Amino acid sequence: MEKDHTPSAVKAALQAKCPRCREGNMFTGKTYSLKAQKMNETCPHCGLRYEREPGYFYVAMFVSYAFAMAEMIAACVGFYIITGYMEGPWPYLIATIGTVIVLSPLNYRYSRVVLLYWLTPGLSYQPEFNKVAEKP
Ligand SMILES: [Zn+2]
Repeated sequence: MEKDHTPSAVKAALQAKCPRCREGNMFTGKTYSLKAQKMNETCPHCGLRYEREPGYFYVAMFVSYAFAMAEMIAACVGFYIITGYMEGPWPYLIATIGTVIVLSPLNYRYSRVVLLYWLTPGLSYQPEFNKVAEKP
């Protein structure tokens, strides 16, 4: 019996794989590196064009905004729990802004991943593209 090698949606999304074939990488390079991370224009495995229409990734800005808000609230609450109460707004501001700056490469990457995986109608996993070895 042949084993099913299809990766789950969450696993493929965490590895930033193409939403259609779950095989090709959406980005070149690592999340954290000195060079700015670049997104592939098309999937290297199945040829899917990631930018569905011109300006499509502006929508990812809203996803990124939601991520940043959640991180800021979590950082603020976490900072409060760890340090107890601290006088004045500055320690909290530094903690929240520092957290968002440190996590911004992740926000950039995963806002686009979330947009393509779960917020794009008509784009879903198609197993036949996972198996095709050569480009169509
Ligand atoms: Zn693909």
